Amino acid sequence: YAKQKGRGATVFYEPSMATVVAEHLQLEADLQRAIERHQLSLNYQPIVSLKTQQIVGFEALVRWSHPQRGFVSPIQLIKLAEKAGLIVSMGQLVLSQACQHLLQWKPQFPNLYVSVNLSEIQLRHPNLIAEVEQVLKSLQLPPFSLKLEITESNLMENINHATELLEQLKALKIRLLIDDFGTGYSSLSYLQQLPVDTLKIDRSFVQNIQVGNKDFEIAKTIINLAHSLGLEVVAEGIETGHQVEILAQLGCEFGQGYLFSPPLVDTEVMNFLNQYSVREQGTENREQGIA
Ligand code: C2E
Ligand code: MG
Ligand code: MG
Ligand code: MG
Repeated sequence: YAKQKGRGATVFYEPSMATVVAEHLQLEADLQRAIERHQLSLNYQPIVSLKTQQIVGFEALVRWSHPQRGFVSPIQLIKLAEKAGLIVSMGQLVLSQACQHLLQWKPQFPNLYVSVNLSEIQLRHPNLIAEVEQVLKSLQLPPFSLKLEITESNLMENINHATELLEQLKALKIRLLIDDFGTGYSSLSYLQQLPVDTLKIDRSFVQNIQVGNKDFEIAKTIINLAHSLGLEVVAEGIETGHQVEILAQLGCEFGQGYLFSPPLVDTEVMNFLNQYSVREQGTENREQGIA
């Protein structure tokens, strides 16, 4: 559709509203098909103990390669899935795939866990609890094998409802983590109310951390806050040894980032595990009780 800006002027081609809508619908249809055909994949990024350097688990990160458009960024993919009403079925696929992959690694590495991101729509979906329970049961995975990541913003819309849902997940003995901690707009008071085990410090505070700068003070405050509430801390987006040193010094237990490894395709995970040391006995696991 061309818009003529006067004789001799440049002709601008803009997609009409109808074209934009049609393309969007096509993309939604493509996503739906991809979910039905299990054509989404997962990458796994190791989570490492900053004390012992041992791998304790992996975060599952969804990947979609569109047949024509190529790689779709996960943030965009999640938005698309939420808008199209596909996030619940996509989330089911992610959860069950992640647990199935973990099952393959478990014989050799029984104490690993997999950490799965949940969107707020999934969290509010009435079937979530039953579904999580079902996945663990059908694969005979103990609850410490699964950690669920929820972002702060997602929790705040209805804190009482969120608390209730998280309590139900907690009753299954699954560990819960607040993702991207520090980036939301929420008050801290909800932390005493939510049954979470771990805070994940957002990458934005890790990126430029230097002893004594503002990010350092924020990270320190988050870590101290977490510890005083009995929570553990994971720092995300660690790219340098210097960041590790600082965060470990502050008492941050775990880290994740390109320094240790980028997200890996599932077939690379075993290889990776065989080259690194993996936690053999976690006190956490003992506390949670191995089913
Ligand atoms: P997130 O949960 O905070 O995941 C961490 C993101 O940081 C991932 O991006 C990861 O690839 C990236 N990352 C890891 N280490 C580094 C590092 O050292 N440096 C930098 N610059 N980046 C690093 P990714 O995979 O693009 O995912 C983006 C977001 O999409 C995730 O943020 C999460 O909120 C969402 N997401 C991904 N997979 C899923 C899923 O299965 N379900 C839901 N609901 N959300 C998902
Ligand atoms: Mg996450
Ligand atoms: Mg995060
Ligand atoms: Mg983040």
